[in-house]
Amino acid sequence: MSKRVLIATDKPFAAEAVKGIRSVIEKAGYELVLLEKYTEKQQLLDAVADVDAAIIRSDIFDKDVLSSAKQLKIVVRAGAGYDNIDLDAATANGICAMNTPGQNANAVAELVFGLAVYAVRNFYNGTSGSELLGKKLGIHAYGNVGRNVARIAKGFGMDVYAFDPFLSAEAIEKEGVKAVKSVEELYTTCQFVSLHIPATAETKNSINFELLSKLPKKALLLNTARKEVINEAEIVKFMEERTDFKYVTDIKPGNHEELAAKFADRYFSTPKKMGAQTGEANTNAGIAAANQIVDFIENGNERFRVNK
Ligand code: NAD
Repeated sequence: MSKRVLIATDKPFAAEAVKGIRSVIEKAGYELVLLEKYTEKQQLLDAVADVDAAIIRSDIFDKDVLSSAKQLKIVVRAGAGYDNIDLDAATANGICAMNTPGQNANAVAELVFGLAVYAVRNFYNGTSGSELLGKKLGIHAYGNVGRNVARIAKGFGMDVYAFDPFLSAEAIEKEGVKAVKSVEELYTTCQFVSLHIPATAETKNSINFELLSKLPKKALLLNTARKEVINEAEIVKFMEERTDFKYVTDIKPGNHEELAAKFADRYFSTPKKMGAQTGEANTNAGIAAANQIVDFIENGNERFRVNK
């Protein structure tokens, strides 16, 4: 019997993405099963009961769903974050869980520059702003998004620096980016800093008063990473002291109302997280998920596995 691959999405993929996924799945000789816009958990429980693989978005794959999926060997979250999958339950049920890292990286990186230009042109308030050309940009974490930010920054003629303790200086510098040795050095050197760190025990609250104080005059902090990495109370204190500093973010902070009220001319947040919200990112992630499933079933490739 041919393998059955479920797409379970309460917020469906674009039609173009489903078409691309279908083509990958059917080319492998598998059958595609579609469950879109479901409203009850029971519909999901029924749908997973007899499939071999599943592609999901922010759909919840908890213990109940994973233990109902008797035939399921792999679930792939089309996207970067996978906190909607209970990884321990996946492991306990012998299911491989994956994400599709990097597929939305260009979308996020382009938004960084949308935000940067908006900020240096004073939020389009009609006054004279400044340019990106020749300015120093510090990329805080040189992963999938950081790398794309570097590529675009070079087009703007920026002088690009990066800090990533998990990469060698050679790996960063071979891409024409200057590797700095410490996070402090990045903030001391660069007028513009763009955050691309994951939220980990080490990074949470790490963007604090002390670190921000190292920034040169007229600094701009861009956050398209995670809100948890910012020390929210301390950024307010810093903005009160440093009236030359601007902060723009794609991740609405917990203290957004306060920031918006106090620093209307130096602070901006997108109304909803928009970094990965492009048709292209959506399609890329869906097709990558389909390819990863075929490669897992045919060749046992577990490269993007996120559970043990
Ligand atoms: P990635 O896993 O490709 O890269 C993360 C990088 O961070 C890695 O190179 C890693 O070495 C580095 N890193 C880890 N800990 C670090 C530390 N303490 N200091 C410096 N570097 C450190 O991830 P990505 O796809 O580039 O995503 C980066 C961030 O963007 C994540 O926080 C992710 O949640 C966020 N993101 C946001 C959106 C959005 O819609 N705005 C979309 C996708 C990703």
